[in-house]
Amino acid sequence: MSNNVLKQLKALRAQVRKYKDTLDYYEKLFREDGIIDNKEQAQLDQLNASIERIRNNISERETKLNFGNKVVNRFSAVTEGVGDFINQKDDIVNHSLVDQDAVNSTVTPPSEDTSGEATSSNPTVDTAPYSGSETWDPITNTRIKTLDARVQSSAFQFVNKVQADLNMTIRVSSAFRSIAEQDALFAKGNVTQARGGQSYHNYGLAIDVVEITNSGQANWNADWAKIASIGKGLGFEWGGDWTSFVDKPHFQMPFGKSVSELCLQHYPDRARELY
Ligand SMILES: [Zn+2]
Repeated sequence: MSNNVLKQLKALRAQVRKYKDTLDYYEKLFREDGIIDNKEQAQLDQLNASIERIRNNISERETKLNFGNKVVNRFSAVTEGVGDFINQKDDIVNHSLVDQDAVNSTVTPPSEDTSGEATSSNPTVDTAPYSGSETWDPITNTRIKTLDARVQSSAFQFVNKVQADLNMTIRVSSAFRSIAEQDALFAKGNVTQARGGQSYHNYGLAIDVVEITNSGQANWNADWAKIASIGKGLGFEWGGDWTSFVDKPHFQMPFGKSVSELCLQHYPDRARELY
């Protein structure tokens, strides 16, 4: 019984960290244009309210613990943010833990609209854009804009071409990640094997994608072979091709640079620590 309570507390703390990461991520994105508008502030407030609610829930449960469990719980809370450094392989192991909330709660499923659009009944008209700076998905649009400028148009094309050719909607679930964001993911222990500086995401040169089904759910068991053939056709390297470590949602454009070279170039202090 008591073990269960401790497990629940641990899960709640993980939830708080996830919300905090999400909050930090969006706050940074929103600030990019120099101002946080009312709508954006409302979204941030909502995230803060969720964090507050979970924290209250945690405190309430903690007061009911006996002394022994309080000690165990305190120790666990201090250590669980720190993961073991295993090796330097990119990348996300468990994508479903990243941006789970964004995937599950804010999806507007692509409409299979056959009602109003005049062009939708005409199969010879191909109105799907292959380039541009828009996709079906505002979240994806925002994330692509965090990437290195050289990768952005390929990423837009990727999402749009998958939609046009495969009739499948994919979302960019992760794009640029700061060093701090990468370290935070690494600290979760079961999400990524790359520390800050060791992922192409840290240089805006990688994306992770996920299929969003008609019901708005993320599908991590998508038809990766078909998705990858489009991505690779546009110049991306695919994590599914790796032999030592397979990472199917991951696509990157290294432009001939290894992560250690990039790290040395952009974050020399961090590079000295890692390499
Ligand atoms: Zn990735």
